[in-house]
Amino acid sequence: TEEYISQSEKLSVVGELAAGIAHEIRNPLTSLKGFTQLLEYKDDTLNPYIPIMLEEIDRINTIVSELLLLAKPNAGDFRKVKMTDLLQNVVILMNAQANLQNTEIKFHTLVGEEQDYIDGLENKLKQIFINLLKNAMEAMKTGGEINLNMMIEDNLLRIQFCDQGCGISEEDLAKIGQPFFTTKEKGTGLGLMVCKSIIDSHHGHMDIESEVGVGTTITLTFPLCDVYSEMMVDSNN
Ligand code: ADP
Ligand code: MG
Repeated sequence: TEEYISQSEKLSVVGELAAGIAHEIRNPLTSLKGFTQLLEYKDDTLNPYIPIMLEEIDRINTIVSELLLLAKPNAGDFRKVKMTDLLQNVVILMNAQANLQNTEIKFHTLVGEEQDYIDGLENKLKQIFINLLKNAMEAMKTGGEINLNMMIEDNLLRIQFCDQGCGISEEDLAKIGQPFFTTKEKGTGLGLMVCKSIIDSHHGHMDIESEVGVGTTITLTFPLCDVYSEMMVDSNN
């Protein structure tokens, strides 16, 4: 019967599970971290193990945070979000880190003023772009450029992330977005799954093209604000 469970049903099952357990895990984890930090100062003989313990606690924290994001994909009210501003802010935020790794994120837009609105949840949208830029940066071990392009095509807002990173093999491409699929030692394998769930809830689409050793291009499309509301009116009639 598992074949009959759709991807979105799988997501909502994971989401419900996440909602149930993530909070429960967080509280004991916070005290665990606090007491471990105290040990660091009190007991010299245990010292070599404590940084490792703290690192592992942080890793659990990261996983739990990503699960929490999945838990309520539709929380809040959809509003008109100006994407040029949102992307510019995300790029400023992420460039601070990127520049330390010899990487530069360049944002180009071909979209005129007053055309760049989509209906959405600002924080959730931000989360998508941060996750995608993080992945691009992590794929570019020796640095390089990440080009972020925005345009309108076929009445859709198209946002493209082009990196010069390691690329993704065909075999891995098939597994991407599955819960916990990661090729990274410290990855959670939840980032793209969270992205997919948010994109779905915004009636968007994600397309991944990649060549090993050359780079990856991730293309997102979203309905534009006005077009989308017209579509809603149509489908209600
Ligand atoms: P994580 O980053 O924790 O591994 P993600 O869901 O964000 O989890 O990504 C899953 C996997 O997809 C990564 O481990 C990596 O193998 C691959 N991947 C995602 N984005 C890129 C990219 N831009 N370049 C190369 N590989 C990528
Ligand atoms: Mg990731």
